[in-house]
Amino acid sequence: MSFDRRTFLQGGSLVLLLGAHQIVRGATVMAVRLWPAPEYTRLTIESDGLLASRTIRGPQRVWMDIEGITLDPALRELAGKVRADDPFVAGIRLLQPEAGIVRLQVDLKQDVLPQMFHLAPVAAYKHRLVLDFYPLRPVDPLEALIAERLKEARAPVASAPTPAPAHDPLGELIARQVQRPPQPTARPAAEVARPALATAKMDRLIIVALDPGHGGEDPGAIGPAGTREKDVVLQVAHLLRERINRMTVNGSPMRAFLTRDADFFVPLHVRVEKARRVQADLFVSIHADAFTTPNARGASVFALSQGGASSSAARWMADKENRADLIGGVNIKSQDVHVTRAMLDMSTTAQIKDSLKLGNALLGEIGNVGRLHKQNVEQAGFAVLKAPDIPSVLVETAFISNPEEEAKLRSTQYQEQLADALVRGIEGYFSKNPPLARSRPL
Ligand SMILES: [Zn+2]
Repeated sequence: MSFDRRTFLQGGSLVLLLGAHQIVRGATVMAVRLWPAPEYTRLTIESDGLLASRTIRGPQRVWMDIEGITLDPALRELAGKVRADDPFVAGIRLLQPEAGIVRLQVDLKQDVLPQMFHLAPVAAYKHRLVLDFYPLRPVDPLEALIAERLKEARAPVASAPTPAPAHDPLGELIARQVQRPPQPTARPAAEVARPALATAKMDRLIIVALDPGHGGEDPGAIGPAGTREKDVVLQVAHLLRERINRMTVNGSPMRAFLTRDADFFVPLHVRVEKARRVQADLFVSIHADAFTTPNARGASVFALSQGGASSSAARWMADKENRADLIGGVNIKSQDVHVTRAMLDMSTTAQIKDSLKLGNALLGEIGNVGRLHKQNVEQAGFAVLKAPDIPSVLVETAFISNPEEEAKLRSTQYQEQLADALVRGIEGYFSKNPPLARSRPL
């Protein structure tokens, strides 16, 4: 096949990232990674120099030519990294059409919107060339929540003994959604749920957004024994989800929604957007961070601040968490990033007041199962806590940098105790601040 410049132009999607003057000759590939997830699959090539590359998109196939590198063993590993359950990538072939150019041929399971961009060296990473594969129609968090609920309804889990309510509150949530400006297309999941609506009682479904920090390219903090924050916080979120899904508040069933349910990176503003899309009543971001000394220990809870941080330690923590986008990797050229960020700067004093109440309820319970780093809810400018209409807190469950706490964080027993404490805190918050008292805009 002829694959010259003309072919690229005829393809109609020529992407030339760098001018000739920036092209690096002789760069070495240090690592390749693939992060498959239902929302998008990310392919990362890490190298010691900036790589010039271009992509062309065909039906169910994307090619990427990279200049200035050779087809070395590090790069060849990519082909073997494709997982059978990858929603987008079926296979990757590596070719060398001419000296100094490596061509990746990515065979796809569905047509995608590819996004290619560079990430500058940060933290432990050198230069990264990223190629994301997005579905033509983005995954809607609300539809994902509905699909999950329907799947459970068909195959009830033995460990969840609570009988399903006679009516379908999630269906009612859909009903509210369908009254809104039209969704792009009616989805089969929503259609299946709709028949329940006619007889449904208008009870409220309480939704708690759980936000396991980091993921994908961003491991979060790493403990002395190699435990990664992104893994333990996802495990805690799963345990917490089980508990929340069994709970009711004043007769209204509760439902947990995870901002990420796999090992992939979700940008901070997207986490907030997802919580708003499912009309979450609460937002709980879960972390387990590190400090510069191994002695730091105990849990802390943070809320947003409108002014300065409540302490220099809180400011330090917020700065650290806000760097997640740099490490996890956000395509700053994608147009919605700046718009959403500007919108999320409108947080209100009411949100912060509720967040502090929620934070105190959680601290009280965590203090019963583990040590507290700080007795009071601290405040700083965490980007992930900026939903203007959702009480939002960030829980640092422990210091993964402390060998003793790292060992606890790895144990299922402690993770369960922690999940129990968090669910009791959420319960306590709702008992004093009933969600029904809050009006939810339609
Ligand atoms: Zn973290």
